[in-house]
Amino acid sequence: MKTVLVTGASSGIGKSTAIYLAQNGYKVYGAARRIDKLRALETYGIKPISLDVTQQESAETCINQILKEEGKIDVLVNNAGAGFYGALEDVPLQDGRNMLDVNLFGVLRLIQKVLPNMRKNKSGKIVNISSIGGKIGMPMGGWYSAGKFAIEGVSDVLRNEVKQFGIDVIVIEPGGTNSEMEGKGMGFLKKVSENSAYKNLSDGLIKMYSDIKASDPIVIAKLIRKSIEAKHPKTRYAGGAMAKPMLFMRKILSDKLFDKMLMSQFK
Ligand code: NDP
Repeated sequence: MKTVLVTGASSGIGKSTAIYLAQNGYKVYGAARRIDKLRALETYGIKPISLDVTQQESAETCINQILKEEGKIDVLVNNAGAGFYGALEDVPLQDGRNMLDVNLFGVLRLIQKVLPNMRKNKSGKIVNISSIGGKIGMPMGGWYSAGKFAIEGVSDVLRNEVKQFGIDVIVIEPGGTNSEMEGKGMGFLKKVSENSAYKNLSDGLIKMYSDIKASDPIVIAKLIRKSIEAKHPKTRYAGGAMAKPMLFMRKILSDKLFDKMLMSQFK
């Protein structure tokens, strides 16, 4: 039985992925800070495990416990993430740093901890949850894109570093998906934009989000399963509301044409 660690399993995409993989024959460890939420997943056979990805000791304890119990980690789904919005001029640097601590350093911290075991086993899958925000710089999403663009880049680097050890690195690029993220992110945006020179863009983003029909997280859970079961996985998988059309436009349009299209949505 394959052992999978899903980070950020207490809600949204991570929760859905943990349940879906457990229902499909995987031994799943669901990790997050809110252990009470994870306990509710035990009925699916998921093992709750406490983890704060920003804390080195917490990451070490989490990985060591799984290795002690299972002897291996076959798949790491780096899903834990934070997303809040605000103009780059408005968001305090410390808040930006906190976001990168989860979305970038948290991901790399876990990768560093699982790699020795995966290398020893000469196999493993590292699935990094990026976003369409890892390819598209949406106004008000500066710090989010800083982390997700970085995830896209480090995944490209890592893929070629660990290929020689039989390890695959896969990037998942979800579009709008129902989870706790939008609520948390929009709350922050409203607070930080109250007296902002960028209130027009903040209002535009709020309206845009209310117009998008977000996908159910199961869409992404299925994509993750598909990617880890592929004999020769693609480097990237996109899915969920607006993901494919947005990424296609980003690819074929010039920067300026894409800006025009994007900004027309803010009116
Ligand atoms: P949620 O807010 O619902 O879930 C985020 C998860 O991350 C929670 O389980 C939370 O658990 C966990 N988490 C946050 N901080 C930490 C931390 N320091 N240590 C450990 N776990 C942490 O959001 P989503 O399900 O939407 O997000 C999952 C991933 O999908 C993220 O990487 C996000 O960027 C990405 N994504 C989401 C999209 C969307 O539209 N929803 C679109 C594109 C990408 P807890 O608070 O209990 O620790």
